[in-house]
Amino acid sequence: MTAFWCELAWLRAGPVPSVRVEHADGRITAVSPGAAACPGDHVLSGLVLPGLADAHSHAFHRALRGRTHGDGGSFWTWRQAMYALAGALDPDDYLDLARATYAELVLAGVTAVGEFHYLHHGPDGTPYAEPNVMAEALRAAARDAGLRVTLLDTCYLTGAPGEPLEGVQRRFGDVDVEEWALRSAAVPADEHLRPAVAAHSVRALAPADLAVVAATARARGVVAHVHVSEQPAENAACLDAYGRTPVELLAEAGLLGASTTAVHAVHLTDRDVDLLGGSRTTVCLCPSTEQDLGDGLAPGARLVAAGSPLCVGSDQHVRADLLAEARSVELHERLAGGRRGVLAPAELVDAVTAAGHAALGDATGGRIAVGAPADLVAVRTDGPRTAGADPAQLVMVAGAAEVHTVVAAGTLVVQDGQHRLGDVGALLTAAVDRAWRATERRSSPPPARALPASGATTRRPS
Ligand SMILES: [Zn+2]
Repeated sequence: MTAFWCELAWLRAGPVPSVRVEHADGRITAVSPGAAACPGDHVLSGLVLPGLADAHSHAFHRALRGRTHGDGGSFWTWRQAMYALAGALDPDDYLDLARATYAELVLAGVTAVGEFHYLHHGPDGTPYAEPNVMAEALRAAARDAGLRVTLLDTCYLTGAPGEPLEGVQRRFGDVDVEEWALRSAAVPADEHLRPAVAAHSVRALAPADLAVVAATARARGVVAHVHVSEQPAENAACLDAYGRTPVELLAEAGLLGASTTAVHAVHLTDRDVDLLGGSRTTVCLCPSTEQDLGDGLAPGARLVAAGSPLCVGSDQHVRADLLAEARSVELHERLAGGRRGVLAPAELVDAVTAAGHAALGDATGGRIAVGAPADLVAVRTDGPRTAGADPAQLVMVAGAAEVHTVVAAGTLVVQDGQHRLGDVGALLTAAVDRAWRATERRSSPPPARALPASGATTRRPS
């Protein structure tokens, strides 16, 4: 197959009819609006968008979906369940879960995901014999599922300002920031994985360590991501420890800028908004997670007005529907401000395409244009939820269920709503069951002289 013919394709800022897209070696080589289909072309009906970017994912959180709403279901009961899960997964569990999670994302039209990866070491913090075996599981998952992962290798050193990691958190931490930098530098790039860096949060890194992460990103020429001000308690702890807001602390550490993405950015002062926008820091909103965890409403439109590009992420995967995430950014603005039309549909499409790929370190992605990755997502315009809608406004009504075909780097990964791996529901069921069985085993008393699942050969200082 050498070309796709699109009934309608999203070019620059809106739908254009009859567009022929040629590709070679995974990239688009020609885009011809108003062209007839040629014999042998693969015809894509409906509206064809560029591949979508999910800029913030914790793949293993998918196992928590629909299981954390009992017993009060607070942010903290959710985190308790997440820690139980995080404490139990071995590299094979992690691969299974990430593969199934990514396959669900591809069904929703995602062709690139930013994995905010902090599950580095064995359950007690002991490094694996292959120190990046968990990152390699993500590479394999991305390859199998048919998308690209930007590995946001996360530095996570303290449980709170000045406090050591405890319990399961020891899996997340490296001995110090230099050791994190050395380990994370050892993950090679390939067509499925783009290395990048992250600082977990101002809770998990001291100011001097934040500055090292910023310097590391600059030295390697990669993007940096960081969680910022998701919950009010995080701001209070930061003010208490440093007399500054989290955003102010990041600014002083040199971590803000056009190559940085601040994730959540919910509880901001006016000065925080100015610092983020003025530095052109991208902000990644994760509306379904922010709803689910009761985080609050981020000031998305104010951030855009101040100069920050917006992108979106599925984060804890309570919902794997990136068009719905993009739509929710506008719907949150409507609820917060009591008016409609704050962000235009084309701005929402940009957030989930070009801006998202740029935040993941790919300035060419998220466009149907020569030189861009040959990533195409065909969305039904004649389904029960989308029939009659203006294609230019489809992002306000369409979701994952309307995605019928996904092409990633020129390869068909989803056709007629079917992923090439087969039944993704069955994959998820098996992977989630396996993850919770591992969690139950770990919470039971271990047999005498049980070997750690990590297969570790060295022990780091605790
Ligand atoms: Zn996150």
